[in-house]
Amino acid sequence: MPASQLADVKGRTVSYLRLSVTDHCNLRCIYCDRQMRHRLTHFDVLRYEEMLDLIGMAEEMGIRKVRLTGGEPFARRDFMEFVERAAARFPELTLRITTNGTLLAPNAARLATAGVDRVNISLDTLNPATFARVTGQDLYAEVRRGIEACINAGLGVKINAVALRGVNDHELAGFLDLARRLPLDVRFIEYMPMGGADWKPEQVWSAQDILAEAKALAELTPLARDDADAGPAQMYAIGGGAGRFGLITPLSNHFCGTCNRLRITSGGELRTCLFSDRTYRLRPALRHKKLGLPAVARIVRLALKHKPVGAELLAARRAGQGVSATAMSAIGG
Ligand code: SAM
Repeated sequence: MPASQLADVKGRTVSYLRLSVTDHCNLRCIYCDRQMRHRLTHFDVLRYEEMLDLIGMAEEMGIRKVRLTGGEPFARRDFMEFVERAAARFPELTLRITTNGTLLAPNAARLATAGVDRVNISLDTLNPATFARVTGQDLYAEVRRGIEACINAGLGVKINAVALRGVNDHELAGFLDLARRLPLDVRFIEYMPMGGADWKPEQVWSAQDILAEAKALAELTPLARDDADAGPAQMYAIGGGAGRFGLITPLSNHFCGTCNRLRITSGGELRTCLFSDRTYRLRPALRHKKLGLPAVARIVRLALKHKPVGAELLAARRAGQGVSATAMSAIGG
């Protein structure tokens, strides 16, 4: 571990930053933030220059991977230029993007040229009508064009689907078939009780159930957990398939013990745990003439001392309540 490597008090090393570039999204997903109550003012959103400074600080502190997220990152003006600047300025960093894919197709080749090697695309359904119902927008074809453009540009593609009973639980065969035909990962993620959505336990389609159903539809071979590309997902090879299938289990089998993440929102708030609403305001220090980045770095190190174990917060929450009052669109996933 390098001397400067960030570690929390439980000895978890921190090497991965999720940076949200906007809290605005062009979709209104039923499970995320249908009302979009969290829009920040222009002044409150970090400028790209400030974000580049934060990435530089994070790299000096041992962060090796930065994921740009949102809201919808491509919905922020000049996002593609920002990606190019970040990739050019931090060539040692692994730079990745999480997007809903609706604005991706025209940018795929540019992403590849900039040095981004992989994109996560959120897609919960393969049915255009269900897509419109879940997201509030009739943009399914755009996402499919985005996926195709990424594959053609040589980018790695991971499709993330929130597993929702009553919404996409009859679409497993279609998703498995997609991963069979195309060189991409399809990953189902358990529906988490976050703010901004009316989460109900009966809507959770558990990973255990998904796996049992998937095994009846395809020949799945579990892949080693230490596959660096898998992140917190348990991945499976699909017999005769070009792609892979995976499950992300924040509810049924948490991965807090190996959590290596920090999150910074577009308003410059540091979150050390997805499930904790304890945030640390970096923006005032960052914009302060005398304090600046050294003070921000001190806040980050101090905050890490209190990095919670999200699973404990999940277990302690009252029935029916969200584990966080903040919607995912304002955090970045
Ligand atoms: N707009 C981008 C996108 O769609 O990927 C980035 C932001 S979005 C908030 C990040 C991810 O969080 C998406 O994959 C979305 O499906 C997921 N997400 C939002 N709310 C969720 C919830 N309650 N449980 C599980 N995943 C959720």
